[in-house]
Amino acid sequence: MRAQFDHPPPIVSALQAVLPVGCVLFRLEDTRPYECDGLSAFRQPPLAVALPEDEMQVLAVLDVCRGHGVPVVPRGAGTGLSGGAMPMEDGVVLSTAKLNRIVRLDAMSRTAVVQPGVRNLAISEAAAPYGLYYAPDPSSQIACTIGGNVAENSGGVHCLKYGLTVHNVLRVRVATIDGEIVELGSEALDAPGLDLLAVFIGSEGMLGIVTEVTVKLVPKPAVARVIMASFGDIVTGANAVASVIAAGIIPAGLEMMDRTSSRMVEPFVNAGYDLDAAAILLCEADGTPEEVEDEIARMSAVLREAGAGAITVSTSEAERLRFWSGRKNAFPAAGRISPDYYCMDGTIPRKHLAHVLAGIAQMEVKYALRCANVFHAGDGNLHPLILFDANRPDELARAEAFGAEILALCVAVGGTITGEHGVGIEKIDSMCVQFRPAELTAFFGVKHAFDPAGLLNPNKAIPTLHRCAEFGRLHVKHGALPHPDLPRF
Ligand SMILES: Cc1cc2nc3c(=O)[nH]c(=O)nc-3n(C[C@H](O)[C@H](O)[C@H](O)COP(=O)(O)OP(=O)(O)OC[C@H]3O[C@@H](n4cnc5c(N)ncnc54)[C@H](O)[C@@H]3O)c2cc1C
Repeated sequence: MRAQFDHPPPIVSALQAVLPVGCVLFRLEDTRPYECDGLSAFRQPPLAVALPEDEMQVLAVLDVCRGHGVPVVPRGAGTGLSGGAMPMEDGVVLSTAKLNRIVRLDAMSRTAVVQPGVRNLAISEAAAPYGLYYAPDPSSQIACTIGGNVAENSGGVHCLKYGLTVHNVLRVRVATIDGEIVELGSEALDAPGLDLLAVFIGSEGMLGIVTEVTVKLVPKPAVARVIMASFGDIVTGANAVASVIAAGIIPAGLEMMDRTSSRMVEPFVNAGYDLDAAAILLCEADGTPEEVEDEIARMSAVLREAGAGAITVSTSEAERLRFWSGRKNAFPAAGRISPDYYCMDGTIPRKHLAHVLAGIAQMEVKYALRCANVFHAGDGNLHPLILFDANRPDELARAEAFGAEILALCVAVGGTITGEHGVGIEKIDSMCVQFRPAELTAFFGVKHAFDPAGLLNPNKAIPTLHRCAEFGRLHVKHGALPHPDLPRF
């Protein structure tokens, strides 16, 4: 890691020439807060941090970086869990912290136009007076930005029913590395041409900088109630998830917490969880009072049939929020029982939940590390929290190997190595497990079309074929990699 500069590098004065005073940080004490995102095991202070105040200034920053051949790492709130916003030693971090204005909120068309640095929850707060809200609700919603949500295609507890970011964003304005502003999508239901909006959402800052987002707003349901169902063993709980969906019910939320998780979180938030249960399911119904009453009755019957023990239904809005607060605070609560945790994020077909959870239990023994499971069960999106102590020799290495084996198991049962936290630097080697060389080559082709010089968030999300070869997941004949014509970034 570099020491303090004696003389700021030339990129600093070039950025200072195009940004207002105070919008370029380069001293180590100022860049240090940007050295990592939520994946704090990996840190690197950047060369400089640029804080543009409007879209023209974003373009100016990109122009300067392109001119100097300096990589650019976009950053929202830095809550990402896969190292997507981790800086490069020779790169500039472009922070959207000052682009935090709600441009327009149209209750008639149920849309909001917002700058990328607006916090997820701030959109719902602004929409609340009109009886509307923005549905995707990552547990980090109090802090994370809509630009980060677009880049990661973020999800949340309510995405089972209401969809992920990709289903709730109509249009984005993007600053390209070539200095253009392009609009992807439209305010109508469809846009002419190829669906580049879908390509862009989830592209982890590698294709362009989001400068404005048009989101859909949905009416706040009249009523919502949540069931807390207890299970004596994890497998029965996991199978109950499949039973709910098989019964034709799409709950507003369907989350699972194992005993380690509920015991970890209960002293932190006093959610009222059943601490004797091996697993609890939280199943929410929302809609009109009649719809909710009917769905709660149907879900309760299915859960009982599937082997649930105690079933508690929230009787007030305060109690509903209390049940959810435990789930939403599970990650921070991990800090109460372990100095460090490593949050994995893999998605599997729901029918394999029980098998994969059993596999994770065996890995706890193999790696001699505890793991708390708290996750979006309805989506089959797992979040194993591997608990470790980075101060103990080789615990981080064991936690990483544990995580990689979980992801390999997810792929083996037909799932994916990420549900919503992205690939970033964390899961880049697992991409070699998930995809064949031809597929990775196609991803690079898309990256190259948007960013020919490879300056936007390089070395993230897509592994080079060389990297996969080193990782042992690519068969190289006579030292020759396939597709030598493609850029290596
Ligand atoms: C406690 C906790 C709970 C979480 N719960 C959830 C959850 O329930 N669901 C979920 O999906 N995620 C969750 N996350 C992960 C994280 O909050 C999301 O990935 C979120 O979308 C990141 O937003 P951010 O503003 O912090 O982005 P950052 O972390 O700053 O950046 C994330 C990625 O987006 C890129 N990026 C940021 N802004 C832009 C932009 N304007 N243009 C282009 N690229 C950009 C960055 O380069 C990086 O690759 C959680 C994280 C924490 C710490």
